[in-house]
Amino acid sequence: MYIVQIASECAPVIKAGGLGDVVYGLSRELENQGHTVELILPMYDCMRYDQIWGLHDAYKELSVPWNGGAIHCSVFCGWVHGRLCFFIQPHSIENFFDRGYYYGGNDDNLRFAFFSKAALEFLLQSNKRPDVIHCHDWQTGLIPVMLYEMYKFYGMANQRVCYTIHNFKHQGIGGMEVLRGTGLNNEGYYYGYDRLRDNFNPFAINFMKGGIVYSNFVTTVSPHHAWEARFTGISYGLGHTLELHQDKFGGILNGIDFDVWNPESDRFIPHPYTATTFAEKIKNKKALRERLWLRQEDKPLVCYIGRLDDQKGVHLVHHALYHTLARGGQFVLLGSATESGINDWFWREKINTNNNPDAHLELGFNEELSHLIYAGADIIVVPSNYEPCGLTQVIGLRYGTVPVVRGVGGLLNTIFDYDYDPNHPPEKRNGFMFFEPDQQGLNSALDRAIDLYAKNPPLFQQLALQGMNYDNSWKDPAQKYIDIYDFIRHR
Ligand code: ADP
Repeated sequence: MYIVQIASECAPVIKAGGLGDVVYGLSRELENQGHTVELILPMYDCMRYDQIWGLHDAYKELSVPWNGGAIHCSVFCGWVHGRLCFFIQPHSIENFFDRGYYYGGNDDNLRFAFFSKAALEFLLQSNKRPDVIHCHDWQTGLIPVMLYEMYKFYGMANQRVCYTIHNFKHQGIGGMEVLRGTGLNNEGYYYGYDRLRDNFNPFAINFMKGGIVYSNFVTTVSPHHAWEARFTGISYGLGHTLELHQDKFGGILNGIDFDVWNPESDRFIPHPYTATTFAEKIKNKKALRERLWLRQEDKPLVCYIGRLDDQKGVHLVHHALYHTLARGGQFVLLGSATESGINDWFWREKINTNNNPDAHLELGFNEELSHLIYAGADIIVVPSNYEPCGLTQVIGLRYGTVPVVRGVGGLLNTIFDYDYDPNHPPEKRNGFMFFEPDQQGLNSALDRAIDLYAKNPPLFQQLALQGMNYDNSWKDPAQKYIDIYDFIRHR
């Protein structure tokens, strides 16, 4: 099968969070299973050019109709750790992707509406006719809309779309300017409630809703989150739309790339290890402490890695830091915040804990350091308010770092409580879980983890090893996506 992935991220060249990991890891596994995969991405000025091999211009004269005129684009081509990627670079005064950031402009809806249009135009003009176009998140929600309303008539009638929603919170809201820009000119038609009109703001169109309505199949990134999206408020107003389209909606649990995340061959950790050489892990803990100026003492090292965002339960992350210190442990945080209030708050905490030999807060995005933290920590906390899938707990498992998580979304599909899990025998359990999103809730799980570490080290190690035994690679999930691709191709 010939599959084209269109997305706003692909790790490690463009990564703001889990979306980048998923786009890369899924593409690689699809190729491993014998399929042809290409990726189309924006050419941001701030992406990691050092992660692209053989970048060259592939298509110089891409003219993309926009706003009644056209924007001229160059398309570059290169390999990101073996994946064939096409990068679209528009040349216009809007400077869509030359701004030093991936997201955060006031005109993000126009930036990605343009990218979606340009990606389709590139497929059309370069005569690429994939069997399946796989789009991701709100940024590419308009692709199936334009494919079925426009490009189908230009010679792309056989292409099918699978649309994956990684986070319902960001849906892509716009107005007439988006319709004008993309050339979806029939305002009354597209503003229909059964098409793009936002379910709550009657003056707006919603990219993600368009993605759901027009795609041949829609997925989200874990089975439990698929259920939450339909039956709780977590889909931010799209529950009814999902209800209408339930026949083509499902949840597929994300995998992680077992080569990128592999403690046996990880280039960023000084002491490789496996389940059979688990004793080496403690050398990474020592190295991590050395790097972050933490004291070397026999105490549990708890970490948090992730965006500092309301979604992630920042108040509980903050509490976990001080609770761990109060319990005599050490805490390492690696995170970045886009919201200035949260950013300022954690900068103050960083200053507060600056001289504490048991705490380190690293504020920013640092891929290399994240690997060392996964390898060096004993416990990883993920106290999310909601979590479509969550990758950090799964990476934690792979590195023998015991997860302490809140029981929501994909966390429920991946972590099984050491003491209480009703569905898994003791030898299949791999972490600690709590449900109430408050301090007592978090304590109830974190305390059990710290106590087991302190009072029964062999059992704690056994639990870490059980986590390492889980196969959360892309093998099974990729097969599920292939089944979906096959299904929509022949429908
Ligand atoms: P998200 O909601 O951000 O997608 P996930 O748990 O699905 O959360 O994925 C997070 C991914 O981003 C993981 O690979 C994690 O290691 C990485 N990550 C998050 N924040 C940082 C950071 N500040 N520095 C390095 N890597 C990070």
